[in-house]
Amino acid sequence: MKWINRNDSETNYEDRRGRGVKRGITMGGGGILVVLVLSLLLGKNPMQMLELVGGLTEQSVETVDESQAKENEDLKDFTLGVFNSANDVWSEIFRNRLEKNYKAPVLVTFTGQTQSGCGAASSSSGPFYCPADEKVYIDLAFFYELANRFKAPGDLAMAYVTAHEVGHHIQKQLGILDQVQQLRSRLSEAQYNKMNVKLELQADFFAGLWAYHAQKMNIIELEQGDLESAIKAAQAIGDDTLQKEAQGYAVPDSFTHGTSAQRMYWFNKGFQTGDYSQGDTFNDPSLN
Ligand SMILES: [Zn+2]
Repeated sequence: MKWINRNDSETNYEDRRGRGVKRGITMGGGGILVVLVLSLLLGKNPMQMLELVGGLTEQSVETVDESQAKENEDLKDFTLGVFNSANDVWSEIFRNRLEKNYKAPVLVTFTGQTQSGCGAASSSSGPFYCPADEKVYIDLAFFYELANRFKAPGDLAMAYVTAHEVGHHIQKQLGILDQVQQLRSRLSEAQYNKMNVKLELQADFFAGLWAYHAQKMNIIELEQGDLESAIKAAQAIGDDTLQKEAQGYAVPDSFTHGTSAQRMYWFNKGFQTGDYSQGDTFNDPSLN
């Protein structure tokens, strides 16, 4: 992947690398308390983080040390460039296609652990989006894991991860996350998991859509092997693949992100069509 026009703006960027926030920070404010009580009543967390990968375990994460992370400016520049380009693409789609104003999220890079509006986060959660504070959280060390443990190296594999998280922000902006949240207390766990799969596959579709439009808007130029590297990433983090790897078998009812085949399919569909209206995973017969 080559940059034709990289937007390096740090307007929507928060760099927390190299200074871990201690756990147990007190959260003030009545609003938080109300939300907490509500969530206890409903027995669910109303501000759940939307993670890229289901079932990552603590042991599996190899974090780089702080100085190494700080040195890795190239990775940060790349990720910020993808993040900004996703916002540029989506502003355009919101304006021209949806006739809405787009409000960009914030990208937070961190090392090891940090606090989010959705609670304490560590690298073991993998990259995620928090709807409560509208921020995308990434420990850049995840990209080493993507290349080494998940065997999905390459620029477009990393870009897919970032574009997927921005995809969740699109769902927040469009009210899709709120709708799913409202349904949540009425669904069984298996039904809720199914709903979550649709959210995740739509975010994969949005990531593919980003790649199509970023190219069309002359922000990036794709090279030989790029598409394969993104597809490989989508494949590597499918629930069935991860579960088989971890426990030797897969339990479809517990899938929260979709199978490898589904994740590849939806990313590719976004990339091939570039058509926003093709991404309605909630009404797709194959997912019901
Ligand atoms: Zn996700």
